[in-house]
Amino acid sequence: MSTLRFHAIKETFNRPVIDVQEPARRSAIFGQNVFNDAAMRQYLTKDSFRCIQDAVLNGSKIDRNVADHISTGMKEWAISKGATHYTHWFQPLTGSTAEKHDAFFETTEDGAIEKFGGGQLVQQEPDASSFPNGGIRNTFEARGYTAWDPTSPAFIYGTTLCIPTVFVAYTGEALDNKTPLLRALQSIDKAAVDVAKYFDKNVTKIHPTLGWEQEYFLIDKALAKSRPDINLTGRTLLGHASAKGQQLDDHYFGSIPKRALDYMRDLETECMLLGIPVKTRHNEVAPNQFELAPIFEETNLAVDHNSLLMDVMTKVGDRHNFKVLFHEKPFAGVNGSGKHNNWSLATNTGINLLSPGSTPMKNLQFLTFFINTIKAVNEYEELLRSAIAGASNDHRLGANEAPPAIISVFIGSQLTNVLDALEKVKNGKLSPEDKTDLKLNVVGKIPEILLDNTDRNRTSPFAFTGNKFEFRAVGSTANCAKPMTVLNAIVAKQLIEFKAQVDSLIKDKKMKKDDAIFNVLREYIKDSKRIRFEGDGYGEAWEKEAKKRGLSNNKNTPEALKEQVSKKTIKLYEDLGIMSKVEIEARHEIEVEEYAMHIQIEGRVLGDIARNHVIPTAIRYQNILIENVQGLKDIYGKNFKKLAGEQMRLIEEISEHIESINKDTTAMIAARKKANQITDSEKRAFEYCNKVKPFFDDIRYHCDKLELLVDDEIWPLTKYRELLFTV
Ligand code: ADP
Ligand code: MG
Repeated sequence: MSTLRFHAIKETFNRPVIDVQEPARRSAIFGQNVFNDAAMRQYLTKDSFRCIQDAVLNGSKIDRNVADHISTGMKEWAISKGATHYTHWFQPLTGSTAEKHDAFFETTEDGAIEKFGGGQLVQQEPDASSFPNGGIRNTFEARGYTAWDPTSPAFIYGTTLCIPTVFVAYTGEALDNKTPLLRALQSIDKAAVDVAKYFDKNVTKIHPTLGWEQEYFLIDKALAKSRPDINLTGRTLLGHASAKGQQLDDHYFGSIPKRALDYMRDLETECMLLGIPVKTRHNEVAPNQFELAPIFEETNLAVDHNSLLMDVMTKVGDRHNFKVLFHEKPFAGVNGSGKHNNWSLATNTGINLLSPGSTPMKNLQFLTFFINTIKAVNEYEELLRSAIAGASNDHRLGANEAPPAIISVFIGSQLTNVLDALEKVKNGKLSPEDKTDLKLNVVGKIPEILLDNTDRNRTSPFAFTGNKFEFRAVGSTANCAKPMTVLNAIVAKQLIEFKAQVDSLIKDKKMKKDDAIFNVLREYIKDSKRIRFEGDGYGEAWEKEAKKRGLSNNKNTPEALKEQVSKKTIKLYEDLGIMSKVEIEARHEIEVEEYAMHIQIEGRVLGDIARNHVIPTAIRYQNILIENVQGLKDIYGKNFKKLAGEQMRLIEEISEHIESINKDTTAMIAARKKANQITDSEKRAFEYCNKVKPFFDDIRYHCDKLELLVDDEIWPLTKYRELLFTV
């Protein structure tokens, strides 16, 4: 019975060292497999190259003739690098990436050639009927197609040329994560440029930047495979805590174990070839938990790179006999994983708009974008929460782990003082003395480098960290496109409003530009006070306080997702042209359905393990005990109880746990059946959340108790101490 577990452990002891080849200089191979500017210059005509550049910078269309030139150049480049196939690479609403490979090879009348035409570059029609569409395709009886996104360069992975694309229905509705993101990025570009022009007329383009930090666990492949729960759900559904966990803090930032380091070196080399600028690696808090972070990039590219990275991590993991766990909470009792999204705005003039500057004017610009972001988060905190909702992230947010499900903004005491001072700015026009005072003593006093980053315990879900905001509540499994779409959309909306208000003060109240800006910012500071929180962002006291402030606290996914289809959200997206009501509702439908399926699968796996692995093992051990008691009785007769007392207590204890497991499992199955009969997807999700999921903890509790009672030799499930400490 337990043979699989012991085989797996033995296999981990005998793992060969994997040979890792690293280049002497990473810069020498960086982007080697990317159709980047250098490759384009070599393989494209000047005109074609200019067309792509124009498409990237200004969103202009690439005409068909040019596309033919580009595809031919791209093909020649790809073949020179050993590629045989091409694929449109996209991010359907399953959250991962999708690809279908076609060979360049084509037959002709007199033989065969390698061909890749402009049409094949620009558009494809994958058989997409099995991708989630939330009813869009049923409603419109339309098929989906993928279309080239020239703003993210093509790359070669393995022997396939991958072309980043969007995925849309024939009727135009987005069926992927990238399309709404691109629309949101366009909105914020326009809105932010309009505001930045108050400060610098030379600003013509603004792109949001994203630097994600990917956390993950590495578990030996054999050990992971020996656990049906890890195999099918990506996390452990039961398992008693290891005697030693993370309590000694001896893993965090400690020296990286050799096997894990070899994996990282190999992974990072792959990343270099693919142009993913990975920079930082370190141990995380939990045993076997690690983090990888890149240099930040333009948001669309950063999102693509994170999706690609997760795929590469899995593949390289396989080579190193690791299973990479991206789940937000693969193990109870130790830290979960997140994916901090560091975000800022960069101008074509090379300025980071969230970086304080050296002059009062630069700082007024900084404050404008800083305060507008806080205001946007204040207005749309619930939507921001919904963007990171998912069954697996529920184990972090709202459960016993920071950050909480309440969105709040941390800015540190230096900037709190600045905002407090600005709040006192006089209504209406400012006198020259007022203005000088303000510029000298408030705005001018913001140091270029903010040393004050006191959010050491990192419990705030949205923190300002010196020159960027860090959205920390994003889950480690997430596709960053979702939170990035929301964040950029809400800030875009906010900046449009800001511009209108400032312009109106200038025009109607004849205010000077600075006066108008100060006046509007003052009101924003007042309006968004409730979202600012500098304390420990987690625990009961904060929950109470947040409730008083009217902040949402949606602790589970179905609850959080409701905001995605609220009137306010639909208006936001429609006003900005990011998504239509049909697209919004389809997405909600997909997400609630996915949630219910997620819990359904976990429930099935847990039921199977409890009934078919744990209980039979417990009975086997109980039989051994019964045999022992019987033997003692045979030998010692009446006096046997003195000797068999402990065994008899164990026999009873085991029976009690078995009874509880059986009772709860039966009830859980009944609850699942009932939930499955509900046809409304949202209601079904709520039913799974409130009626099925609560059984998980009870079943687990009794199984974990049995793990402590039953002979280790016959326990079938690889234990926490083995999963987490055998690498
Ligand atoms: P931490 O203390 O959270 O590890 P780091 O300073 O190491 O913070 O940076 C974390 C991430 O922030 C990195 O991925 C980095 O690229 C990103 N980052 C830094 N500056 C910016 C910026 N202007 N815009 C977006 N991301 C940024
Ligand atoms: Mg961070």
